[in-house]
Amino acid sequence: MHNKTAILVIDMLEDFITGALKCERAAATVPEAAKLLRGARAVGIPVIFCNDAHREGVDLELALWGEHAMKGTAGAAVTAALGPEAGDYVVEKRRYSAFFHTELDLLLRELGIKTVVLIGIQAHICVQHTAAEAYFLGYDVVLCTPLIEAFTEELKTSAIGYMADMYAAKTVTTDALLEEFHG
Ligand code: ZN
Repeated sequence: MHNKTAILVIDMLEDFITGALKCERAAATVPEAAKLLRGARAVGIPVIFCNDAHREGVDLELALWGEHAMKGTAGAAVTAALGPEAGDYVVEKRRYSAFFHTELDLLLRELGIKTVVLIGIQAHICVQHTAAEAYFLGYDVVLCTPLIEAFTEELKTSAIGYMADMYAAKTVTTDALLEEFHG
């Protein structure tokens, strides 16, 4: 599978891990996420960071959540242990879905990607909306469940169940993925 697979790293940004909307559960996944990304890069699987980058005074989400991941600020940076590294891709987004009015679908198509592996946060918000649109567009969706987090275990579990049921998302562990990449 792996020459047609990419990893989408959703919103692993400073504001969501240590800042304005911090999630300690996400912080705990960083070492294992870094290991997955190293394994992916080693076999040429594209790593695509899908990052909130909001426009001040414009983006509608800000009224609901307050200011977070404002474009160009330190809070909008990917947590340093994950990247981006040379050869990684970065797609900026202004909505929950990494596909909505971004270049992500064009990038995936030009890379020949058929399967997207999702990791990151939050399970029931940006991960779920990105999984929905990936499914609508015909991509196979894989969820690396130890590396997908939310504010609570209940939110995480229910979102993963919903994505498995509605988008035929396959759930895997980090080690199983790494084995598949290197197999
Ligand atoms: Zn946002």
